[in-house]
Amino acid sequence: MSTIFSKIIAKEIPAHFVYEDDLVVAFLDISQATKGHTLVVPKAEFRDIFSVPEDLAAHVMKVAVKVSHALQKAFEPAGINILSNNGEKSGQTVFHFHLHVIPRYEKEDVKFSLKNNMSNLSLDDYKERARLIKAALS
Ligand code: AMP
Repeated sequence: MSTIFSKIIAKEIPAHFVYEDDLVVAFLDISQATKGHTLVVPKAEFRDIFSVPEDLAAHVMKVAVKVSHALQKAFEPAGINILSNNGEKSGQTVFHFHLHVIPRYEKEDVKFSLKNNMSNLSLDDYKERARLIKAALS
């Protein structure tokens, strides 16, 4: 079954498009978490970061940079968050890979609470985590 984003891309469901090329579209997130909140979505349907091809993901990011410049010009936010939820536990609700581009006007307009666990970790914990990631990358 196609995702709601595929239906938007096929113009079966309306959306406010701001950008389109052969591979990627960008349209307003219906939630408008902040003014101008935009989604950048590959036209081809890939569930998440684990299935999207690297080159396409790079192009999605390139478009997110263009959109960020446009948002900056249009609304003059004080900052921008770019984020991607991958997997239900991370908060993903539409299982079609995408980047959120979220202009920020105030520290309080979006709540991200990243816990700082530094005080519970030893030097060895960091070394072991880095070792495992490096091994998985090679
Ligand atoms: P995520 O939760 O990271 O998977 O993001 C999915 C996003 O899609 C949410 O922020 C929704 O507000 C947005 N969304 C869902 N349906 C629509 C729609 N019809 N048009 C625009 N955005 C949508």
